[in-house]
Amino acid sequence: MDIRQKLRDNLARVEERIANACARANRKRSGVTLVAVTKTVSPDLAKLLPELGVYDLGENRPQELWRKAASITDARWHLIGHLQRNKVEKTLPLVTMIHSVDRERLLLEIERQAQRPIDVLLEVNASGELSKSGFNPGEVTSVVSILSTLRQVQVRGLMTMAALQTPEACRPTFILLRELLEKLRAACPKHRLDHLSMGMSNDFEVAIEEGATLIRLGTVLWEGVEA
Ligand SMILES: *Cc1c(COP(=O)(O)O)cnc(C)c1O
Repeated sequence: MDIRQKLRDNLARVEERIANACARANRKRSGVTLVAVTKTVSPDLAKLLPELGVYDLGENRPQELWRKAASITDARWHLIGHLQRNKVEKTLPLVTMIHSVDRERLLLEIERQAQRPIDVLLEVNASGELSKSGFNPGEVTSVVSILSTLRQVQVRGLMTMAALQTPEACRPTFILLRELLEKLRAACPKHRLDHLSMGMSNDFEVAIEEGATLIRLGTVLWEGVEA
């Protein structure tokens, strides 16, 4: 089968699973955005996504995002992985959203460099694994005092990665993130805090059931699609 057709089939199957999860949770499909993660494929393959109607694309490494964004300009790029402060300047003009602001210093550096409003999410280590970066759940509300000082940076919500385990076992992580967002909202009623970026190939249906507005999928899209 040709690769374009295979990708189209994968997208159709994923779309059906997203729709079913939305229906179970009594949510509108329009409240969930698929961010297609292109980190494992070439720019030529990634380019098929906008052609098939998927415009939100995610990369976890800034340099790879720079490379792909240069050749795929009809997409909204999301940075979903670690950002070093010396890569902020070059990344900012290229991205729609940075999901992975994992420390206060990075938040302030983005604010210092941004020439226009930029949407970001705070990454939370909600699963508690030592290998994961992000704010500890207890630190999130301590960011509240900074939020009102930001001019360009719009903190729009929270992001997390669940531990690799059964989807059902990921549920408490997603519930924790949702409850943290509710706390943050209560503490910052003037801010538009409306996004939860959670759910990957392994666990996206549970994430949708628990309120995900952005799901980040790689593996399920590229299965069987070869270069
Ligand atoms: C790779 C990656 C994903 C996608 O993971 P899959 O399991 O392949 O769907 C999502 N989020 C982040 C931060 C990633 O690095």
